[in-house]
Amino acid sequence: MSHAPMPRPPEPSTARVVEVRVAPVPLDRLTPLLAPERVGELGRHVAAVRRLLGGRTVWNINSTARGGGVAEMLHGLVAYAAGAGLTVRWLTVGGGPEFFAVTKRLHNRLHGSPGDGGALDAAARATYDATLAAQEQQVLDLVQPGDVVLLHDPQTAGLAQVLRRRGVWVVWRCHVGVDEHDQWTREAWAFLRDLVEPAHACVFSREQFAPDWVDRRWLRIIPPSLDPFSPKNVGLGAEEIDALVHREEMVVEGGPVPSRDARVVLQVSRWDRLKDMGGVLDAFSRHLDALPSDVHLVLAGPETTGVADDPEAVEVLAACREQWQSLPAAARERSHLLSVPMDDLDENARTINALQRWATVGIQKSLAEGFGLTVTEPMWKGRPVVASAVGGIRDQVEDGVCGLLLDDPRDGEALVGALASLLADPERCERMGRAAHLRVRDHYLADRHLIQYAELFGQLLESGEA
Ligand code: UDP
Repeated sequence: MSHAPMPRPPEPSTARVVEVRVAPVPLDRLTPLLAPERVGELGRHVAAVRRLLGGRTVWNINSTARGGGVAEMLHGLVAYAAGAGLTVRWLTVGGGPEFFAVTKRLHNRLHGSPGDGGALDAAARATYDATLAAQEQQVLDLVQPGDVVLLHDPQTAGLAQVLRRRGVWVVWRCHVGVDEHDQWTREAWAFLRDLVEPAHACVFSREQFAPDWVDRRWLRIIPPSLDPFSPKNVGLGAEEIDALVHREEMVVEGGPVPSRDARVVLQVSRWDRLKDMGGVLDAFSRHLDALPSDVHLVLAGPETTGVADDPEAVEVLAACREQWQSLPAAARERSHLLSVPMDDLDENARTINALQRWATVGIQKSLAEGFGLTVTEPMWKGRPVVASAVGGIRDQVEDGVCGLLLDDPRDGEALVGALASLLADPERCERMGRAAHLRVRDHYLADRHLIQYAELFGQLLESGEA
């Protein structure tokens, strides 16, 4: 008889609930960017949901306050919702390395990739359950019956049942997925199904990501959004941009980011295999001759100690560095690996912002992508993007209008070809950059996102008792 190994208990120091405090921001900060009818619509929805919520709190629960798209978005949305007079709070759950190894495995498999190859078996489930069970009471001490809870991603799905039993409205918000389900996605969904099913409603970024057992009456498609006034996206002066992109401490391979007489193409990503930073570097060095000689590649990601729920990062960055070191000198001279410090989050965001403004073209060669704020961000800054035609990137980038899409994310030659064609035609680049900015303004700002949540909460609260 075989015994599943006993899971080690989660590390007490990390497995605890922490509240992330966000200062409210008045909603009318967005007003100058929006057409008057959009402002009116937002005001009406917010007033309606405020009335329906009465004294209730809307909670967000995820697993990190920094690094990655979910944390990025929550900072903005929580601030605006609080500024609109709603009571919105944000909690993070913690976990030991074993918990995050399991949730990263789920994350990878929901993207159709085996990840670390480990099993999603009874032992994995026991680790997962034990970590959340240890934090359940802390959540229940805060959340009251009748409140609304948004649980983000697989890391928190396991809280749905206990919250529902407590008479709380539970929405599971999944930020990841692939269009075509396969053995890996099916395995992840088999793990998650009974954890997710107690939720009253599910939110996905794309319809195709939702497995067929999700109740369509309570499935909502809500794509992410960015905050134009956050440190990540706010306008920066030329001198500040110059200083930020040349912060010396962040260069891990290659010389400093070149000065203005060269042009930069940039991919910003967490050090995650599915973002394929290595694939970008490989394509760039192999097809260097296809690009004008003033073009440099910059790959920028967070310092690898900075993102608590991302155990792959150290390995992926190390592999990229090794790869860089083995490149011919000509490619090394024109490629730069940056690891952007995470100790000061505002400074990190401003640095990414500056890099995105410094770049002529944004790249996102992801092999799978739930949405890809790293596509939205350069678009907002008026940069065209060259990106894989996968997941949420397909919704954002109109091919040939705001950038160029790559049908095969693994085709490095096509990537460089697309970059070369844009870089050869600065006017087209500018035109596409303008279209990219308008696309974000019209589809991916916080007002649309808040309205969609307000609608869902209204429908839930009017549907009966939690
Ligand atoms: N990001 C950052 N610093 C970095 C790398 C990434 O702040 O060094 C941010 C990036 O600007 C974006 C988010 O992390 O806002 C990544 O979100 P995305 O939706 O692209 O992908 P995810 O990381 O959630 O898979």
